[in-house]
Amino acid sequence: MTKKIALFPGSFDPITNAHIDIITRAASLFDEIHIAIGLNSAKTPLFTVEQRLAMLKKIFATSESVKVASYTGLTISYCQQIQANYILRGLRNATDFDFENAIAQNNLQLAPTIETVFFLSSPGYGHISSTVVRDILKNKGSISHLVPKEVLAYI
Ligand code: ADP
Repeated sequence: MTKKIALFPGSFDPITNAHIDIITRAASLFDEIHIAIGLNSAKTPLFTVEQRLAMLKKIFATSESVKVASYTGLTISYCQQIQANYILRGLRNATDFDFENAIAQNNLQLAPTIETVFFLSSPGYGHISSTVVRDILKNKGSISHLVPKEVLAYI
């Protein structure tokens, strides 16, 4: 049987408890989940790609079905490279939906066999974003309730 492989693409700058929640919930649906940092020259990250990869590797060190990587170029091209037939994305609100809807439809036209699967935020996670975490950090606030403990080592 073909393995069900899902790609969870994102910036993960840094990874938050909401990302972890989505990965945990998706784990029972797929044989493998590849968390991949999309390298996007339009965004200036707070954490380097090396730091973000190191955080992800530490968090998922004992999860055999979770792989960690970075990629450049189209997300669907990377899916084809790793033989992923699913893209995971999270939805917090209608703004996320509008943005993700357009991307998912374009991806479907480019690669009709790759389905995007959406997870709504779990109760209590909808207010978390990497942007908010970075803003709190820049203003010297505490983020320990928003991110896994492995992220705290990089502050
Ligand atoms: P990107 O820069 O591609 O948006 P992020 O690292 O910010 O990457 O997010 C990766 C994915 O996780 C996106 O699909 C985003 O919508 C989702 N996500 C982030 N935070 C939440 C949250 N609180 N609830 C649900 N999904 C979320």
